[in-house]
Amino acid sequence: MNTHNHVHSFSNQLNTGRHAVVIGGSMAGLLAARVLTDYFEQVSIIDRDTFPDVPEPRKGVPQSYHAHALHEKGQEIINRLFPGILDELRAGGASSAYGVMPTAVVTPTGKLPLVKQDGESLGFSRVLLEWQIRRRLTAQAGVYFLANCKVTGLLSTPDRARVIGVRLHHQDKDASPEMIQADLVVDASGRYSKAPEWLVELGYAVPPEESVNSGTGYASRIYAKPTNFPAAWQHLVIFGHPPHNPRSGFIMGNEHNKWHVSLVGSGGNYPPTDEAGFLQWAHDLSDPSLYEAIRVAEPLSPIQGFRVPQTRLRHFERLERWPTGFIVTGDSVCAFNPVYGQGTTVIALEALVLDECLRHYKHSNRQGFERLFQQQLAQTVAGPWFMSSSEDMRWSGVKLSGARPRIGLGILHHYMNLVLKQACDDPMVTQAYLNVVGMMVPPQSLMQPNILLRVFWGAIKSINQAATSNPANPEQFPLSSEALTLHETPDKVG
Ligand SMILES: Cc1cc2nc3c(=O)[nH]c(=O)nc-3n(C[C@H](O)[C@H](O)[C@H](O)COP(=O)(O)OP(=O)(O)OC[C@H]3O[C@@H](n4cnc5c(N)ncnc54)[C@H](O)[C@@H]3O)c2cc1C
Repeated sequence: MNTHNHVHSFSNQLNTGRHAVVIGGSMAGLLAARVLTDYFEQVSIIDRDTFPDVPEPRKGVPQSYHAHALHEKGQEIINRLFPGILDELRAGGASSAYGVMPTAVVTPTGKLPLVKQDGESLGFSRVLLEWQIRRRLTAQAGVYFLANCKVTGLLSTPDRARVIGVRLHHQDKDASPEMIQADLVVDASGRYSKAPEWLVELGYAVPPEESVNSGTGYASRIYAKPTNFPAAWQHLVIFGHPPHNPRSGFIMGNEHNKWHVSLVGSGGNYPPTDEAGFLQWAHDLSDPSLYEAIRVAEPLSPIQGFRVPQTRLRHFERLERWPTGFIVTGDSVCAFNPVYGQGTTVIALEALVLDECLRHYKHSNRQGFERLFQQQLAQTVAGPWFMSSSEDMRWSGVKLSGARPRIGLGILHHYMNLVLKQACDDPMVTQAYLNVVGMMVPPQSLMQPNILLRVFWGAIKSINQAATSNPANPEQFPLSSEALTLHETPDKVG
């Protein structure tokens, strides 16, 4: 397709004083690179992988075998960074739905109403998105991809106050390491980033970190969506019910009428990857819609398993000393529990932070830029991390290590239960909840007086109803897919 896998020797060429190097060519690296092109003459994206010429998973990003959702906010930012990319995704076969909220969500307290929305909703896989973005950057003057190259360390000035490049190994050559010089090095090498070790090699401290292990596992498979399948949804999300029911499941309607199906287990309950076990797990979800869908669909891939390592937030911003010329972004800083689908949207927000910080320092010598960036990034990830790690702590035995104690966690969990319960009956609260999930508004917006009132009023009503209704039929599950109801958009909330 292009020059993706050509290795350029930049050692002489790029020491121009205007060169940024990005370690990792996945979502965080690509979005950061796009921003850097506005400020640097040359941007080099280095990845240890060979990039496929067609949209397909690759070794360095094993998570792309599993269903990915891109929240509304993430889509909006990526479209802003790459104008016209939605057309390209459409041309690449993305599925399109109009005039509905296309994701059916089954919560532990019942089904959310499908809130009707104006406009189009696109469904596409993570591999298609990454591939399209890579294509766009490849076509951009001054952007270079160095594939098959593993970064093994940072280069610094003799006093180690400044990072001036990276050391890398060409994986397909038995050659000595190459040094590439840069004015700015961005680490976007993901969850297993060696940034803390590289900083220590240069005499800096190890960043403090918080981690949670919620024992989450995935089993995923691609299916052909049956022709004329009679579902009111484009995507389907069925949540487990901590701490009792650890089983969740997703169907993401992707390009070329494919369904990406992921079964997810929490609290150390991992979904099986054999045919019978996979179907049984789907069958045992709290709602039959997913099982009924895949029962009649044609499998197109083997079943892939994945055990999510512990989720982690590294506090680079808390280090007292920090080298100039180096920043860290993406999963290298904060790797969430993927079950909440936050990763890529947070990465998109981080790209905007990079843009703001670079713009702020555009006309100076960038003194203080790196610290400002890490601090702003820490603020950006704090809310999503708080939400997802707090949810993870609903599973028994899960511990948050390295963090300050969370006072009022039980109250938060209880309030969120009430929000979800009310969201099942009240489209205004549904929309408020979905706005938070879609990261269009911060989680605190669920505490706004109009939402608080509705949530508490709903709770009082249900206590009264429980006192008068027949207790023999208290369960909302299972609900069939036909029970999904369509509501008009409520007044704008949040
Ligand atoms: C099972 C699963 C499901 C998920 N579902 C969702 C979802 O629904 N929605 C969502 O938004 N997010 C989801 N995520 C999270 C999302 O995949 C990540 O947040 C995102 O991919 C992180 O991007 P990144 O660029 O920071 O890191 P990565 O995607 O991990 O990429 C790191 C890149 O760096 C390269 N690299 C690593 N080390 C080196 C080195 N030393 N030298 C050169 N290159 C190197 C790798 O080859 C890779 O290309 C999911 C994650 C998992 C595990």
